[in-house]
Amino acid sequence: MSSTLAIILNELSPGLRLLIVERLNGPALESSAAQNNAGTGHAANCELNYTPRNEQGNIQVEKAIAINRSFERSLELWASLTEMKNLDPRRFLNQLPHISFVSGTNDVAFLTERHQLLSSALAFKNMRLTKDRSELKEWMPLVMENRGSDELVAATRIDRGLDVDFGELTKSYLKIINQGGLMTTLYGVEVVNIRRFGIKGWELDLQGNERSYQVRSPFVFVGAGGGALPLLQKSGIPEASGYGGFPISGQWLVCKNKSILVRHNAKVYGKAKVGSPPMAVPHLDSRWINGRRSLMFGPYAGFSSKFLKKGSSLDLFRSLRRDNFSSMIEVGIKNLNLVNYLISEVIQSEDERLVALKQFMPNASPKDWDLVIAGQRVQIIKSTSDGAVLKMGTEVVSSSDGSIAALLGASPGASTAVTIMLEVLERCWSEQMKSRTWRAKLKSLFPSYGNNDFNQDSSLLKMRERNDYLLGLKS
Ligand SMILES: Cc1cc2nc3c(=O)[nH]c(=O)nc-3n(C[C@H](O)[C@H](O)[C@H](O)COP(=O)(O)OP(=O)(O)OC[C@H]3O[C@@H](n4cnc5c(N)ncnc54)[C@H](O)[C@@H]3O)c2cc1C
Repeated sequence: MSSTLAIILNELSPGLRLLIVERLNGPALESSAAQNNAGTGHAANCELNYTPRNEQGNIQVEKAIAINRSFERSLELWASLTEMKNLDPRRFLNQLPHISFVSGTNDVAFLTERHQLLSSALAFKNMRLTKDRSELKEWMPLVMENRGSDELVAATRIDRGLDVDFGELTKSYLKIINQGGLMTTLYGVEVVNIRRFGIKGWELDLQGNERSYQVRSPFVFVGAGGGALPLLQKSGIPEASGYGGFPISGQWLVCKNKSILVRHNAKVYGKAKVGSPPMAVPHLDSRWINGRRSLMFGPYAGFSSKFLKKGSSLDLFRSLRRDNFSSMIEVGIKNLNLVNYLISEVIQSEDERLVALKQFMPNASPKDWDLVIAGQRVQIIKSTSDGAVLKMGTEVVSSSDGSIAALLGASPGASTAVTIMLEVLERCWSEQMKSRTWRAKLKSLFPSYGNNDFNQDSSLLKMRERNDYLLGLKS
């Protein structure tokens, strides 16, 4: 997130001095590291939780269309940087089909209706639906092998899907910014405190291995992932009042048998179990990490009181404040289903994990899979006029004078970083965003910038053609 903001700011105002402070010994070692997330370029091609039914039972497609639009914005930036700055998309992008797979009468009916609604929107017009078993076998042999012939199954498929190595992307951004020479990056240095300095500035206390020091800045972006909430609380801005965080950990099964993993070439998303959080949607994913192909299944959710994978078990307790304590308790009581679900996930045995995998891949054998710890997500707890709520999305929190902004929450995450950072700029750099110079630069980075009818007219397809061409993808 921070490197996305840094690269956009660097393009808009190359003379800006940027400082990135990172507590670990290199970039992107937390949630953005490839093995810590699923690497799905979330375009809502296959994630069934982005098209929920409303109370009347109707499928809602607005969220899917908005996420698709957000991801296209990311592609737009990557395509522009490839053209202008020699960004190499082969280092972090791999194209593969995005498939939704369901079984049983209700879920097949849901998928059929969802397909009908989505494929009539321009963004998803190439979505295909099949219930034909031989075609399903071609799309995902591992999922169909040894599956009972009486099981009713269906899938949709979009070929223009992506696997993204967000860790490599972060490194590529930093490399480009470094060529300009006005960025300083401090690794192994933690921001331990933050306070107002002057009328519209901030002073940060930094703690390195050997020394501690202070820096001052007129603008701070708290892109600290799970570490964002504690820093936001320390800033003392009134806008941060009432926020809490609920950490959810994750695990993957990673296939170590090469002869199996090469037989799967897709991201296949299923439907989440009733009562489970949206981020626990099971999926069987082809991945490319450091250029090496792999296959993983999960995530299995869990609970840990850490806010960062390399954080402290005290993180959750230290985040408790007078202004968020009652919200935390209220959310706990209102979401007992979720709490029970997480407890059941934490205590499940290897055999139980295998059962979940076998529902996806009937021939799976435990000897071919290793259990690996994924990144931490800190979901947002917020007090609203309707009481405390647990939010599964992301939220930008900023001060009224625009001198500080933080990103809370995790999903849909890195795929939508570009759209989120444009929101940060519109909130905190609003005057500059209106200036002729910045508008011209925004237009060169995002040729569709300012086009609000993007999804309704053919400019979406033209933009996709341009992005695919520059990124070397097949349409
Ligand atoms: C299991 C899982 C699966 C996911 N799958 C996907 C997916 O398929 N697609 C997708 O788009 N997104 C996915 N996400 C979400 C995505 O990983 C995150 O949204 C994204 O990586 C967040 O980036 P970030 O820069 O905000 O946080 P991070 O990558 O965590 O970076 C924050 C950095 O701040 C540093 N930091 C924290 N506190 C301090 C401090 N006080 N001082 C200095 N440094 C500090 C941390 O060390 C860290 O390096 C997934 C996440 C998880 C956990």
